[in-house]
Amino acid sequence: KLSQRLQTVAEYIPEGSRIADIGSDHAYLPCHVVKKGKVSYAIAGEVVEGPFQSAKKQVEAEGLSDRIDVRKGNGLEVISNDEVDCITIAGMGGALIASILDSGEAKLTNVKRLILQPNLSAKSIRLWLLEHGWQLVAEEILEEDGKIYEILVAEKGEPNKPYHNMNIAASLLMGPFLIEQKKVPFVKKWRSEVANWKRILGRLEEAAENEDNQKKRMELSNKILLVEEVLD
Ligand code: SAM
Repeated sequence: KLSQRLQTVAEYIPEGSRIADIGSDHAYLPCHVVKKGKVSYAIAGEVVEGPFQSAKKQVEAEGLSDRIDVRKGNGLEVISNDEVDCITIAGMGGALIASILDSGEAKLTNVKRLILQPNLSAKSIRLWLLEHGWQLVAEEILEEDGKIYEILVAEKGEPNKPYHNMNIAASLLMGPFLIEQKKVPFVKKWRSEVANWKRILGRLEEAAENEDNQKKRMELSNKILLVEEVLD
């Protein structure tokens, strides 16, 4: 059975689309949506040999080889320009997802929707989207097996729109939609981040005073204030 995390990614795939799932590992996501009939054709991209073989095995075992192409390569290099209209990238760091989008930007001309699930640093993705003409249209947050996951959905449009009337620093860090929703896992995630930053701050305050230490303390205090203001 598909994890709740990947199920939530799947829910945002438009009916009838052609997708590329980059960093697909076992290709569970493309197999699921193709089997359901939601997606007519999928590419599963993998850069590492082991996961690439797992993806091929899974697709063959499920008898989906005619509708899912498993391709080996780095990021978006496995797709050409007009093959897909939706891209999913899940289970990696936000900085890596942003760098995959950045290196493959030329492949995005016909892509209508990006569905991204960073394991950390969703901020790197929000920044990239904002600077490259992609508008966040939805965000999700969920807890599964003690871990908290964020999902970001973007389409071409007005990248500034979700940030209107919002504190830009806070909403890039925490997510404009997630701030509005303030769901239980969101509050839990940021309370735990703040507690962690406060612990670090406490240690820095005990350590010897120097310029670097002072700078780090400033940054941490600012982040704590920013997040606490949203949570309160
Ligand atoms: N997407 C699946 C999921 O969310 O369950 C698998 C996540 S797995 C933790 C991350 C996968 O991304 C690994 O199999 C890794 O080999 C692959 N990966 C990392 N960097 C990549 C890149 N630049 N291009 C393609 N795949 C990549």
